[in-house]
Amino acid sequence: MEPLSIFDIYKIGVGPSSSHTLGPWRAALKFREKLIGIEYDKIAIHLYGSLSKTGRGHATDQAVILGLLGFDPTTIDTHQLSIILEEVKINNLLIIDGKPINFNPKSDIIFESYEHKRHPNTLKFLAFGSNDLVLEELFASVGGGFIESEFIHEETSTIHCFPHPIFSGEDLIEHTDIMGTAISDVVFENEKSFMPDIEIRLNITRIFDTMLQCVYEGCTTEGTLPGGLNVNRRAKTLSEKLIGNGEFFGRSEWLKAISDATKDFHAVNKWVSCFALAVNEQNAAMSRVVTSPTNGAAGVIPAVLLYYMLFCDFKGEEDIYKFFLTSGQIGCLFKQGATISAAVGGCQAEIGVSSSMAAAGLTEVMGGTPEQCLMAAEIAMEHHLGLTCDPIGGLVQVPCIERNAMGAIKAITASNLALMGDAKKAIVKFDTVIKTMWDTAQDMNLKYKETSEGGLAINIPVINPNC
Ligand code: SF4
Repeated sequence: MEPLSIFDIYKIGVGPSSSHTLGPWRAALKFREKLIGIEYDKIAIHLYGSLSKTGRGHATDQAVILGLLGFDPTTIDTHQLSIILEEVKINNLLIIDGKPINFNPKSDIIFESYEHKRHPNTLKFLAFGSNDLVLEELFASVGGGFIESEFIHEETSTIHCFPHPIFSGEDLIEHTDIMGTAISDVVFENEKSFMPDIEIRLNITRIFDTMLQCVYEGCTTEGTLPGGLNVNRRAKTLSEKLIGNGEFFGRSEWLKAISDATKDFHAVNKWVSCFALAVNEQNAAMSRVVTSPTNGAAGVIPAVLLYYMLFCDFKGEEDIYKFFLTSGQIGCLFKQGATISAAVGGCQAEIGVSSSMAAAGLTEVMGGTPEQCLMAAEIAMEHHLGLTCDPIGGLVQVPCIERNAMGAIKAITASNLALMGDAKKAIVKFDTVIKTMWDTAQDMNLKYKETSEGGLAINIPVINPNC
């Protein structure tokens, strides 16, 4: 198992999907790098398995174009996306490193009807020169924006060594015991082997700021989401019902108004849902989001963190660092011990993992012990086991958007149960729930793994953009 950084789990990108948008986008960028110095006049992309079945609804075709054009998903102006893509469609041309290449998105992106043996989310890039194949590269988008290919594997063949190697919940507790500290302190020490302290803090601040902006924009934007399902955005209406639709001069004033408003259970519960809906409405609209651990599940972490900051005993920015370090480590453990890809494990791998991450992060900042953090993470996942992925119309909208609100509420409940409980007496251990999630993933019927061929996706009569 390769050691992972929390910044592998938390990545700034573009919606709607980490495995179907961000991963293929990053693969296209890698392929573009390999094209340097090669003579070619044609490019084709083959999408297999889940990338083919839900690729149009998840914007995989658009993502590979943007990657080939060299746009960075972390910095691209998301308001320009439709203009850039429309230009390619009208001109049937890709400009790669200043060189125009004839490219018809309709015929040069091929949605294959079968799954590639490499992985359920496989894509292949081909470059031709005078009709001869000059470069071919196969990638697997393995969830959360991670990609694998033979040459990427070579690039990362030097294994990074952490001062505190952690590959299981048991390892984590062992190191917190040795250091006599919280989970976040152990994780911070490990992250320091990648970068200086200041950079860790800056990265977390940047991630947190991106999440906050996403919540704010989601709560201040109205309209219908793209894709043809005619899903109305609800976060703005919900926010206005809770604090009125007065003029707010920016994010800080809006947040202050929330924290000054009623804090009764119903209001807090509605705010948590509102924050989660806001992020995933933004995600569905191809806006900027942070994978946590995926885009489809990007609303859980910000909703739970804002719940803590606005309605609990928030002590200052140190709490934000702790929350991300602890929750990020939980995400790493699921990636290492099971999966964070819905095409491999269904929605338990997305919303289940994000809920588990949020539960652990919340428990630490609420004063829980490392054992209680893992207990909270275990409880949150335990009640997502078997959750299928069945997005209607192949879009990351229904049930995905509301599912983030559910994941956030379960995380808060899991944290409360762990904080009131005796972790030493927990019947189910954190490592056992990871194993169980993986076993369940392997037993799950293929139609419930991000194919839109089962569940709600077949019981709601809509035109699937992938057909
Ligand atoms: S159902 Fe869950 S796993 Fe599937 S796309 Fe939606 S959020 Fe992601």
